[in-house]
Amino acid sequence: MTTMTESRFIHAGWLIDGTGRPVQQNMAVEIEKGVIRSVEEVQGDLVNKPGIVDLSDYTMLPGLVDTHVHLFMSGENDPGIRKRQLNADYNFLKPVIANHLKQLYAYGVRAVRDGGDYGGYALRYKNECLDDNRSLVQIRAAGKAWRKSGRYGKLIGRPPVNKQTLADAIKNQKTTADHVKIVQSGLNSLAQFGTETPPQFTLEDLTEAISAAHKKNLKVMVHCNGKEPVKLAIQAGCDSVEHGFFMGTDNLKRMADTDTVWVPTAVTMKAYAEHLKPGSAQAVMACRNLDHQLEQIATAKRLGVVIALGTDSGSLGVHHGSAVSEELKILISAGFTLPEAVRCATFNGARLLAIQGQGQITKGMSATLIIFKGAPEELLPNGGKLGAFTDLQKHL
Ligand SMILES: [Zn+2]
Repeated sequence: MTTMTESRFIHAGWLIDGTGRPVQQNMAVEIEKGVIRSVEEVQGDLVNKPGIVDLSDYTMLPGLVDTHVHLFMSGENDPGIRKRQLNADYNFLKPVIANHLKQLYAYGVRAVRDGGDYGGYALRYKNECLDDNRSLVQIRAAGKAWRKSGRYGKLIGRPPVNKQTLADAIKNQKTTADHVKIVQSGLNSLAQFGTETPPQFTLEDLTEAISAAHKKNLKVMVHCNGKEPVKLAIQAGCDSVEHGFFMGTDNLKRMADTDTVWVPTAVTMKAYAEHLKPGSAQAVMACRNLDHQLEQIATAKRLGVVIALGTDSGSLGVHHGSAVSEELKILISAGFTLPEAVRCATFNGARLLAIQGQGQITKGMSATLIIFKGAPEELLPNGGKLGAFTDLQKHL
């Protein structure tokens, strides 16, 4: 008679464990009460162990994390749909957000960080509709972002009011937000290569604001492109630089020195290139911007900058879920191996979102796992398997 235990062994054909190490083959993962108890190579008679779950023709990896999304917007190209979503109220957007979460789930995403919307609707949705312990996709939301009056960012945020400094506004704000989002520059030019917009906030204002957020135990994500805006964001102590197009090598060195995380959102530029009129000056510029970002990603890897995968889903042509596979491909084309790119989309993301015990398939971590049928090489080619994840629970 065998002793009943609650632990289950899974035989995974291939394992991409989130640490960045090369793919491992024929691994046994032991799970007990939702926690990984052991990970070891399959030895002789283990395959005959009663109750072992045979996933020998599957690849297993940790649930993915998209660290930059805007849940209130779809990636739709249709100007009518975009306009409607950009002016809608909560009741209109509620099913829109629910649908985006379904899409994310299908693409293996198990946690997202929302970068803000004008109504704070993603945060409201999280508070009203999700039980964090049971929700399929965990949400970390900024609510409304902060920007300077008269500057870029109206669609996702608002400026401090009543002559408050940004630090005062953050200090005085009663909110259930999980982090703070600050807009520190404008958008990238599709007319002139590498044009930089001036910083929205001074170093002093930004430093005080970030310190006010940190005192409330909130991390700060800063939208910034260009040398000066990014430099100020890093010097002010932000937790992550969002986008960071044209930030330059000195800023990448600063990030490596200070452990500031970079979320390159390169897929946004790829999407522009694909949605603008082929051969048009703007489409050509979008391609050049993308190439430049690829070079920066390669430099970041060489310098040891921590990159977390984020897509800016909701932007034009950037669809929730599928954009994650696009961004993974971009990281690989910039020189990452598949397991290294997966680390950006799992462990690095989970750490940035402060989701404890998630993002790696190692002993003691949560068993938030995704699987797909086939070898790792089948994950990303056109169409790929990223949209075809199976829920591991169905096999247990
Ligand atoms: Zn964004």
